[in-house]
Amino acid sequence: MSTENKSIHEFDYSFICEYFAMTRRQGPGSIEVTIKALSFIDHLTNESKIIDVGCGTGGQTMVLAQHAPCHITGIDLFPTFIDHFNANAEELNLSHRVNGIVAPMENLPFSENEIDLIWSEGAIYNIGYERGLNEWHKFLKKGGYIAVSEASWFTDERPEEIESFWMDAYPQIDTIPNKVAQMQKAGYIPVATFILPENCWTDNYYLQQVTVQEDFLMKYPGNETAEALVAEQRHESLLYNKYKDFYGYVFYIGKKL
Ligand code: SAH
Repeated sequence: MSTENKSIHEFDYSFICEYFAMTRRQGPGSIEVTIKALSFIDHLTNESKIIDVGCGTGGQTMVLAQHAPCHITGIDLFPTFIDHFNANAEELNLSHRVNGIVAPMENLPFSENEIDLIWSEGAIYNIGYERGLNEWHKFLKKGGYIAVSEASWFTDERPEEIESFWMDAYPQIDTIPNKVAQMQKAGYIPVATFILPENCWTDNYYLQQVTVQEDFLMKYPGNETAEALVAEQRHESLLYNKYKDFYGYVFYIGKKL
């Protein structure tokens, strides 16, 4: 398809995909954090089924696979990410039990009571935290787990600049106690929550993007969409450094009643 036939929206998405396919992770996280979250989950065997919703290129999925003996299906809306995901699984000799598929998180292709563990790092916001917890509940077996990371406020009050940034980006951002209460209301026992350490954002996310941003701008000189995307990421990084005492990502782990 020629670019003339694409809507601006589609064109933006292809830029976003290309940009983030160049990074190891598409959201804040770390190997240690994935392993820590996994440590709260019991009874996983080589028969267990895990789904990783909004898996991206699979940075965290491969860590999960290396620390749990289960079958894992990664789900993402973007075929480019899933191609990288499956190539990563192949390279790590995990493709006999780790497979990526293209599907929307709003309509997951699984049966009721089929899944032992639903994983989702930095992605549930795309459907909305509460809606995701509610709608995905049916796919879990009784006693199955959900583990998601989600943007959260650390305090009841915060400066106007960061408040308005998040109200625009994701108004469902909320405090940790409110997120825990929503999890309980959706039919899970809140098993654990912990705040992702700063290095998940700085070293593993924003710093990783610095060379990608330079390469990207060199590849598309004078392209306004590319420049806007890079400017937006740089702005987010500045905001994080300025306001990191007020917000961050939190892992929420729940067990289906
Ligand atoms: N879990 C990865 C990626 C997080 S970024 C990590 O932590 O690195 C969020 C991911 O959600 C992206 O890969 C994006 O393509 C995917 N996504 C966005 N909307 C989606 C939807 N409606 N259904 C499935 N995946 C979606």
